[in-house]
Amino acid sequence: MTQYSSSSPRSRKGKYNKNNNTKYTVILVIIAVALLVGIGLLVFFLAKPSGKRPDDETFPSVKKTEQGETEEPDSTEASAYDTLLQKAGVTAAMYDYDGAIEAVVNAVPNYESVPELSAFVRECTAKKSKLVKWADNTQITHVFFHTLVADSEKAFSSFKKNDYNQVMTTIDEFNKIMDSMYAKGYVLVHLEDIAKIETAADGTQQMTYQPIMLPPGKTPFVMSVDDVSYYEYMNNTGFASRLVIDENGKVVNEMDIYEEVVPKQTDGRTGGPLLKTDEYGRPVVESTVRGNFDVVPLLDAFVEAHPDFSYHGAKGTIALTGYNGILGYRTSYFTYGKKDEAWMSKYSKWEKDWQYYNPDIEADRAKAKAVADAMKAEGWKFASHTWGHMTMSRDDGTGVVDKATGTIINERFQRDTGWWETEVRPRIGNTDILIFPQGADIGSWRGYTDTNEAYLYLKSVGFNYFCNVDSAICWVQLSKTVGGTGYLRMGRRNLDGTMMFKQLVNPDKNIVNDLFDVKQVFDRARPIPVIGVNVEGKDLTKLFD
Ligand SMILES: [Zn+2]
Repeated sequence: MTQYSSSSPRSRKGKYNKNNNTKYTVILVIIAVALLVGIGLLVFFLAKPSGKRPDDETFPSVKKTEQGETEEPDSTEASAYDTLLQKAGVTAAMYDYDGAIEAVVNAVPNYESVPELSAFVRECTAKKSKLVKWADNTQITHVFFHTLVADSEKAFSSFKKNDYNQVMTTIDEFNKIMDSMYAKGYVLVHLEDIAKIETAADGTQQMTYQPIMLPPGKTPFVMSVDDVSYYEYMNNTGFASRLVIDENGKVVNEMDIYEEVVPKQTDGRTGGPLLKTDEYGRPVVESTVRGNFDVVPLLDAFVEAHPDFSYHGAKGTIALTGYNGILGYRTSYFTYGKKDEAWMSKYSKWEKDWQYYNPDIEADRAKAKAVADAMKAEGWKFASHTWGHMTMSRDDGTGVVDKATGTIINERFQRDTGWWETEVRPRIGNTDILIFPQGADIGSWRGYTDTNEAYLYLKSVGFNYFCNVDSAICWVQLSKTVGGTGYLRMGRRNLDGTMMFKQLVNPDKNIVNDLFDVKQVFDRARPIPVIGVNVEGKDLTKLFD
């Protein structure tokens, strides 16, 4: 029993090389998005604020004249205002009424003499007056995903099927989760909307909670996406291969299909499909298809259709490692650089068998940076996920940090941090967010202290926000001053196969119930049970009844 989302590349099976079909699909998608945006704007302009007051009024249509005025603006002017109002309308729909008003005032300083512009400004002012401050910034949920399964059949029959089933989410599931959260009134915010470092009354810099101003009934939440690297092991197992900028300047995915060596795995090796490689050892691409195969383009399209899902333009935070490069580009000198003498003297003691030489590494570094810049312009943020997906602490004490004291117990901690600083930070620009791999934190839940060596080190290289994994609905911790300027720490909830299956077999607990109905969302293409979830005494044939 398998089902595919309409956006899954699998549903275009056999058309990977047929550009025309892809073009028609793209055109249809563009028309659909344009229609949705149009409808969205129309709804925004026509929406009457509740509790109508005398100074409230709905937006007049741009062509309509105010009472007593008979003069129509000339058509060039009217269309200029249309564009301005459309753009400012999106800003206003994202609850940034000051930004929307500013856009109008900056573009048309004498806007008060233009009826539709002054009406727009009045409307923004009225809506702003109805915003309320989110009552408690420690009561904000933070959800995260990994790169999405684009082809369920491939992923759940691959050598990594159990891992994917546990920690990944499918496109179909992601779309349904977004629909549900939007319907429940959730609105995306960034970590810096919750708290940021600012100057206190005594002149010191302190991490400080920020007011989040939303209409009543709306609920802020944070989203992050881990490991958007399109790791080598994921090749040909049903995932996108990279993010690219398309001809319209939008960030979309490419999925490569690689040539597999047949017969597979006859050399006794375990692992993924054996791919044909070129003279440098790179896998040979058979064909490439473009589309919205992962969180970034899917969420961009969703917010374009529903700007009121985003607070001041916020999207998600992308957590990046460095060892396989970033965003699908093989950018790491350590892993893909030319293995000349300088490289050998510097790195060879850590060489692994998955390394090959990428002769396009400089061009790929530039492309990765361009994609990151385009994403930032669309409201995305980036975070460190450590260079080598390094587990900071383990319960058995074998991590690189002693969780109880924060003492650095393995030099790999500094080495890894250094590599992230040189290999990743220059591509994505500055960030002060660290998302711990495996959720493994550098301190206990009690909070970081002024003697936590790992925390002080991470502060010294610029990190102020620290995210672990926690099953609590909301877990937020703030210090104004520890380590100088304090920190914000947040637990995150994995919306993946494990958590959804846990919810399915424990319908009376709240695991993801507050966000969506798991029976509607859980992808039936998944093998069940999801390994690792206790199903003792559960009737697995009645999960969806
Ligand atoms: Zn990770």
